[in-house]
Amino acid sequence: MAELRRDPLLDRWIITGTAQGESLEALITIYKKVSSQECPFCVGKETETLPEIFALRQTGSRVNTPDWQVRVIPTRTQTLTLQGDLQKRGEGGIYDLENAIGSHEIVIVSPKHLTHFSQLSPEEIAEVLKVYRWRLQELAKNNLCRYALIFHNQGDGPVAVEHAHSQIVTLPFVPKTIREEINGAKRYYNFKMRCIFCDILEQEIETNKRVVLENEDCLAFTPFASRFPFEVWILPKKHGCCFVESEEETFFNLGVVLKNVLGRIEKVLANPPLNFILHTAPLRYQELDEGEIISDVYHWHLEILPHALPAGGFEWGGDFYLNPPLPEVTAKILRES
Ligand SMILES: [Zn+2]
Ligand SMILES: [Zn+2]
Ligand SMILES: [Zn+2]
Repeated sequence: MAELRRDPLLDRWIITGTAQGESLEALITIYKKVSSQECPFCVGKETETLPEIFALRQTGSRVNTPDWQVRVIPTRTQTLTLQGDLQKRGEGGIYDLENAIGSHEIVIVSPKHLTHFSQLSPEEIAEVLKVYRWRLQELAKNNLCRYALIFHNQGDGPVAVEHAHSQIVTLPFVPKTIREEINGAKRYYNFKMRCIFCDILEQEIETNKRVVLENEDCLAFTPFASRFPFEVWILPKKHGCCFVESEEETFFNLGVVLKNVLGRIEKVLANPPLNFILHTAPLRYQELDEGEIISDVYHWHLEILPHALPAGGFEWGGDFYLNPPLPEVTAKILRES
């Protein structure tokens, strides 16, 4: 049984025990790259994965057959569960431990064996964004899920399948980074009565020092205090705390910017490993005591984090980061690439 363990020092939750027995073996062999012939995510291999949860399909085509455009499946090492309850158990004392309630899904972003998200067209990216949204709407119906984290890993590292895929992990708590962003946004709002992200948008557009790309619906820029070299955030221009509530018409323009920025990062850094992460309001935030505040202060966004430096060269996830190049310089390089 998977477990959620709280680090008593840093107040951060770790999911562990998801790989046992067969899935532990799967983890050990994860580093063996899967060639495109053997790729279980390619079209025509639908029976080699667990049955699909959802797929964007040609009307009339049957589930778990070809003719899909975006396909959502559970992960093989699925040991998180959406049933049961969140009882505390185990060691006690200073160690908190809970059953790992949650889910872990794979979003296969194309039936073709593409390895880079930037190989999708803006139209195709818009379809992927719609699938993200449908899943978030669906997962919000489960009261045990408090948050759904959507991220996309690309490139070197322990990637079992190189076929481009995003992941959705639902959690019975709000991750620390999101909690801290909401709290920080609240502090700013209490002081200025404005959304900090909207103010950032305005200032970035006005100063134009860190802008990488802009269109009618969104802005891509290197944050003033970037943690990583060539880190880029994409902010929707229209205020909204929740990705699910954003207008579908904006997805194409978001796709244009995401494709373009990823392509530039890949070009400048010669195809580095990278992640992008969707930061949005907690599921069913409207029902929370602070729901109204969240809707005023928080502003959903995408964070693109290239791993330009070798591991150890930066502090991944820590509170202190050493980021050698100035964000103004990386923005200029990306703009001109
Ligand atoms: Zn493939
Ligand atoms: Zn805003
Ligand atoms: Zn964020």
